[in-house]
Amino acid sequence: MQGLMMQQPLLVASLLMHAERHHGTQEIVSRRVEGDIHRYSYRDLAQRARRMANALAGLGIQAGERVGTLAWNGYRHMELYFAASGSGSVLHTLNPRLHVDQLAYIIEHAQDRVVFFDLTFLPLIESVAPRVKSPKVFVAMTDRAHMPQAHGLSSMLMCYEDLIDLHSDAYEWPLLDENSASSLCYTSGTTGNPKGVLYSHRSTLLHTYAAALPDSLNCSARDAILPVVPMFHVNAWGLPYIACMVGAKLVFPGPALDGKSLYELIEAEQVTLSAGVPTVWQGLLAHADAIEGSFSTMRRTIIGGAPCPTAMTAAFQNRHRVDVLHAWGMTELSPVGTVCSFKTHQLSLPVDERYAVQAKQGRSVFGIDMKIVGPDGAELPWDGNAAGDLLVRGPWVTRQYFGNDDASPLRDGWFPTGDVAKIDRDGFMQITDRSKDVIKSGGEWISSADIENVAYLHADVASAVCIAARHPKWDERPLLLIVKKPDSALTEDELLAFFDGRVAKWWKPDAVVFVESVPLGATGKVLKHQLREQYADHYLSA
Ligand code: ADP
Repeated sequence: MQGLMMQQPLLVASLLMHAERHHGTQEIVSRRVEGDIHRYSYRDLAQRARRMANALAGLGIQAGERVGTLAWNGYRHMELYFAASGSGSVLHTLNPRLHVDQLAYIIEHAQDRVVFFDLTFLPLIESVAPRVKSPKVFVAMTDRAHMPQAHGLSSMLMCYEDLIDLHSDAYEWPLLDENSASSLCYTSGTTGNPKGVLYSHRSTLLHTYAAALPDSLNCSARDAILPVVPMFHVNAWGLPYIACMVGAKLVFPGPALDGKSLYELIEAEQVTLSAGVPTVWQGLLAHADAIEGSFSTMRRTIIGGAPCPTAMTAAFQNRHRVDVLHAWGMTELSPVGTVCSFKTHQLSLPVDERYAVQAKQGRSVFGIDMKIVGPDGAELPWDGNAAGDLLVRGPWVTRQYFGNDDASPLRDGWFPTGDVAKIDRDGFMQITDRSKDVIKSGGEWISSADIENVAYLHADVASAVCIAARHPKWDERPLLLIVKKPDSALTEDELLAFFDGRVAKWWKPDAVVFVESVPLGATGKVLKHQLREQYADHYLSA
């Protein structure tokens, strides 16, 4: 027998309609690329998103086609989130930290019809434009007065505010199939090109409900949320959608991510909840310490993307009375998988034991099922000791990468995360290692394979192995181990200089160690695990 409830599809535009109707006067504050602070309400957001939806239609963008963005966290980016997805096209957030070759690859692969960009990224757009065929139009996210001279783009360049002005706000959000695609985010990682994760309206809405819960990211209408995590990085962990769902004030930092700027914004806008990777919080804490400042309204901070060190948890909680919420997720998981919020019996633990709990990545939010398995695929016990490959499944977990119809990443219906973890009796997962061969620096990926490939282009290199080594600021930095060809006089500086222009600047390894040989396994594969252990502290002891 069928249930007798309404068939209302779960759509991204419904989040905006809700925010407009029920929280219309709630504020959205943005530090702009132009340098000033911009503020308006959800009502303004909704109205301008409808204008932009009309503008996208005017540009001939059809349902399912991709709309690229290369932008900081700000209100115009937020408008595009809803104008693109809400109208049935696919919002494709591009990561400006990637090398221009990778960006060009991603834009072509996604077949972006148009790319919107913040003025900061004009030079990047000028380099990318001649290399790509797909976008016919580039839109500078600014007003007429700030429009740049971009000779290379000539007729392809448009102005964001012109598009807004030229179009009416009379627009009906279409009733889409909830399983249709809403947004696309590429993740670079292990070997091969970056892979696109294609979210649906349904997966986004279900993720939004789950991520907003009190034991998840704990968001409400009384919050003022500062997403420092970029909107080009897994939809800023879903916070733009969550803020609409709960009616929270949103505070966008734009490009100013240094400790001082963040601190001032947090205080001025009475931020209650912030979210970002450990690296940005180091800058914030250092600034707060330097000026002996405290946080007058901020009470919670979500830390994820990389392990949150206990010293950081202690600094926030002891010195600043800001609770740390340690969370784990992935682009492939929209991204929230686990959040470390206490169970009742843990509240009375001695403080050191509570910190030990908070060092874990946390327990599953409803909707994410997880398990750990041994090398034979058999499930391991949740005893807090056994560590194995972490697999997940759920309605906001990817089952296939975009444009890759043949190969499924799944193993018996489970998504292998590439993380190695243990799980305790309370269901708290803790990452102990990584089986994927990548480096995560300041919250963004560096492909070790790409670094090795560049090293191999050098005539004096016999073997090249790139591994992640711990770093006090960036969590991890690439370290390059090199076996030279016989009689070569290659130096570290020469080899590092060889990387200039061949990879993004921040991908360049910080150091090269010349070695006699690298350890090989039975099948001739480099035993990276062994090298990672051996050189883990290279940058800490340097
Ligand atoms: P995000 O950076 O938003 O988590 P990515 O897809 O870029 O998303 O990276 C996901 C990977 O980052 C995870 O598979 C894991 O290796 C690592 N990661 C994410 N959060 C944590 C965390 N809290 N602790 C340790 N590693 C983490």
